[in-house]
Amino acid sequence: MTGAEAIALTQRYQMGNYSRFPVTFVRGEGSWLYDDLGKPYLDFLGGIAVAILGHAHPAVTRAIEEQAGRLVHVSNLFHVPVQARLGERLSNATTGGKVFFCNSGTEANEAAIKLARRWAYDRHGEGRHGIVVLEGSFHGRTYGGLSATAQPKFHQGFEPLLPGFATVPLGDIGALDEALTDRVCAFFVEMIQVESGVRMHPPGYLKEAETLCRRKGVLLVADEIQTGMGRTGSFLASDRFDIVPDVVTLAKGIANGLPLGAVVARDEVAAVFVPGTHGSTFGGNPVCCAAALAVMDVLESDGFYDAVVRKGDRLLGGLSEIAGRRTDILNVRGVGLMVGAEMACETKPVAAKCLDAGLVVNAAAGTILRFLPPLTVTEGEIDRALEILSSVLPAEGWAS
Ligand code: PLP
Repeated sequence: MTGAEAIALTQRYQMGNYSRFPVTFVRGEGSWLYDDLGKPYLDFLGGIAVAILGHAHPAVTRAIEEQAGRLVHVSNLFHVPVQARLGERLSNATTGGKVFFCNSGTEANEAAIKLARRWAYDRHGEGRHGIVVLEGSFHGRTYGGLSATAQPKFHQGFEPLLPGFATVPLGDIGALDEALTDRVCAFFVEMIQVESGVRMHPPGYLKEAETLCRRKGVLLVADEIQTGMGRTGSFLASDRFDIVPDVVTLAKGIANGLPLGAVVARDEVAAVFVPGTHGSTFGGNPVCCAAALAVMDVLESDGFYDAVVRKGDRLLGGLSEIAGRRTDILNVRGVGLMVGAEMACETKPVAAKCLDAGLVVNAAAGTILRFLPPLTVTEGEIDRALEILSSVLPAEGWAS
């Protein structure tokens, strides 16, 4: 099938909810993607923070092949060795508590909402079901995740949403203090708001929020779906900000491209999920878990996180240098290999131009050019990406 045929079929038979570039990728290796005509592209998007070890990573491929040849699915009515091992690894890398497996980020948040409400119900009875979220948050597209996503553009035409969600402004600790009443069970927070433009909290905010949650008996739920799995140079971004969440949600890069999500909660919180309270047919699928175990092996290998920090600094430094020579890049920010350049123009045309030139990046929140390369990216590939970006930016500045 040619790329043109794939595009025509997609347009004819799939719903139009995605805005796709007219490019058909057929193969990937490391930080590189290849289209149907064999043209190479440097992938600094990684399937939106998913291909954290790059494409076709040999250890992940081997783990998938071995598990697929042994057992693909068995249901959660039985025990599965790879799932058991992954639960232990994720617990040890996060809260030290217990894990629930699902298939995506929004499902992980959905489970965390149910967990928080049930935890409060078991302790206090009815009425303590409130969930506080931050303005600009992104927690997913199902009704729970969408209700927690405080961005009206995603809500339009889908109301009514779930009741019980309250939004507070970013960085306003006084507003958070006021919102965390005795009707609230949880505060959901992304350590960095990536989808809404790689937005960082003011220094000290997260620590103060953690203290408030502890004092008021409110669960601190860290949505690490995009920031977790080593992206910022530690397993969780919470680690980098010295935050200890009660509940962590993970997905995206967890299985390097296979659909898997996880919620990890402190033992006392996790204990409220007793048989019948929640479940998923596919959650914790053996093949996905095998891939995730291979991911964990690489993340936990010697010096891996140090290299992420070093390469992130190189990317951030290189982008800052380009920004210093121009007026159309207003700001460059990020942590580890999660970096955004804020431009004075819409960035979708800039991303399209980069794509033409063989660099995959994406436009986030209108004016942000977002870089999420595989964590295995090389320094040479970072330099090449910077060169491509420089080459597509016109000397006179991008017309807005
Ligand atoms: N939470 C955050 C912070 C995300 O970035 C995303 C996806 O971009 C989600 C939740 C939803 O994840 P999924 O698309 O796997 O449902």
